[in-house]
Amino acid sequence: MIIVMKLGTPVEQVEKLKRKVCSLGCEIHESIGENYWLLGLVGDTSKVDKSQLLANRHVEKVIAVQEPFKKANKLFHPENTVVRIGERQIGGNDFIVIAGPCSVESEEQIVGIAQEIKKIGASFLRGGAFKPRTSPYSFQGLGDEGLELLKIARQKTGLPIVTEIMSPHKLAKFIDDVDIIQIGARNMQNFDLLKEVGRSGKPILLKRGMCATIEELLMAAEYIMSAGNSEVILCERGIRTFEKYTRNTLDLSAIPVIKKYSHLPVIVDPSHASGLWWLVEPLAKAALVVGADGIMVEVHNDPAKAKCDGQQSIKPARFKLLMDKLRLLAKVENKNV
Ligand code: PEP
Ligand code: MN
Repeated sequence: MIIVMKLGTPVEQVEKLKRKVCSLGCEIHESIGENYWLLGLVGDTSKVDKSQLLANRHVEKVIAVQEPFKKANKLFHPENTVVRIGERQIGGNDFIVIAGPCSVESEEQIVGIAQEIKKIGASFLRGGAFKPRTSPYSFQGLGDEGLELLKIARQKTGLPIVTEIMSPHKLAKFIDDVDIIQIGARNMQNFDLLKEVGRSGKPILLKRGMCATIEELLMAAEYIMSAGNSEVILCERGIRTFEKYTRNTLDLSAIPVIKKYSHLPVIVDPSHASGLWWLVEPLAKAALVVGADGIMVEVHNDPAKAKCDGQQSIKPARFKLLMDKLRLLAKVENKNV
């Protein structure tokens, strides 16, 4: 439920109404813009009487919110959320590019790739230190050492780092070391982890689970937001369908759908969506055109020898061609790459 206050309502009157609603057991999510003052009600609204609210002369109208996600709902927050990391912003007019290898393999590898992608124009460096692998016998990532190597790459290039957390036990270290904490597809519904990162105050990149609906993705964001963290960036990374030619099926329509129902920024991962390096460019271009706020792409200096996901990684030279094309497309879409 959303209470729309009349413009010019004295602050004391709004506060009085807020106290009354809170006493009925709801939490209030307030949103103030140039032309609106909204009180979004979260929690059990069964005791709130709509007609009593409408009897208050400072109330313009009361809107029922059908969707189960509230804080992530555009009705609660009509302006798009912009997540700021240093001078970079995700969710504004910029189309941001996060690039880097699937996993951190060595100092030489991560620093080398970071320097190349920085030169070409990426705005963030990605690289997994803790890897969620399907097989326990596959490379599991360098762990803490991988985080240290990412920090060296950041220090040498200035690129903020994005990396995946798998266990809440590592959260304190991630808060200190990482610029954006990634929640991977396999952990999208790890609710304890979502609550923990919700208390962190750090920007969170939340990837869509491979079998999750858009609503489930938004409910996962709601977990993070309801714990107090509104710095959430969503990521469409393909879902599992009957199609076998690609690793997953990129759900491009998820982008405009999310933009319609939520104020949160949303990016696309064409690498994990397709699983094939030659599909990265067409899908990345499509992502820009359907309105995504950016992409996350796997780039590797030597994909044939990559310890993880070499088949879907592009080399720096191809990454440059992709960036050139995205810059051209961005002009048409009024975005800055
Ligand atoms: C990744 O980005 O490294 C990753 C493992 O992706 P996903 O969680 O989407 O499979
Ligand atoms: Mn990968």
